[in-house]
Amino acid sequence: MHEMSIAEGILDVALDTLRQHDASVIHSVQLDLGLMSGVEPDSLLFCWEAVTKGTAAEGSRIEINTIPIEGKCLDCDKTFPVENYKFICPYCDSHFVQTIGGRELQVTSMDID
Ligand SMILES: [Zn+2]
Repeated sequence: MHEMSIAEGILDVALDTLRQHDASVIHSVQLDLGLMSGVEPDSLLFCWEAVTKGTAAEGSRIEINTIPIEGKCLDCDKTFPVENYKFICPYCDSHFVQTIGGRELQVTSMDID
């Protein structure tokens, strides 16, 4: 399950931040998660609970901010939100669409003490 290694990566970032701020408890972690990141939010939350056991982040929450998929048309250069994985330009019907957003996976802020 790759959510497990992702949860461990987030925990590493969180514990580093904790040390840098001389804090001892993590209450919550805010995360930007793109719809195309390939991460299943439910299973990430489950893994988070498992990897944080016995650490300063035990009992903390992950708050997921879902980032929509954004496409850029390579024919007319316009950008637009991609819905239902339809990679077709709404302006010129082109199929040459590049994904420019939706793969985010990053910690944006944390609530620590
Ligand atoms: Zn276009």
